[in-house]
Amino acid sequence: MKSNERPRAPALAALDEAQAAPRCGAKTRSGGACRAPAVTGRRRCRMHGGAPGSGAPLGNQNARKHGRYSAAAKEERRLVRSLIREMRAFNGTVR
Ligand SMILES: [Zn+2]
Repeated sequence: MKSNERPRAPALAALDEAQAAPRCGAKTRSGGACRAPAVTGRRRCRMHGGAPGSGAPLGNQNARKHGRYSAAAKEERRLVRSLIREMRAFNGTVR
C-alpha cells in the first residue's frame, strides 16, 4: 500500500488477505485455471482433490515406475551433490 493512502477498514484488510491465498490452478472444463483458493496444506481446492480424506495414503506404491523420485533416490543424489561440492572446495584450497 502507498504511504499516502488512507488505511483500509479491518474487514477489507481481511478480504485482501483472503484474496492473497494460494490458488488451486487445476485445469477446468473450460480450459482455464481454477481460481478457487487451495485447501490449507494442499495445492488444490476442495473440488479438485484437496478435500479431506482424498488422495492416496502415505507410502502408496501404486503409481511407482522407476523410483527416480523416491525418498531414497533423492537422498542419494543429495549426498553425491554434497560430496562433489566438498571435492570442488577442496580442489580450490590445493591449487
Ligand atoms: Zn480447483
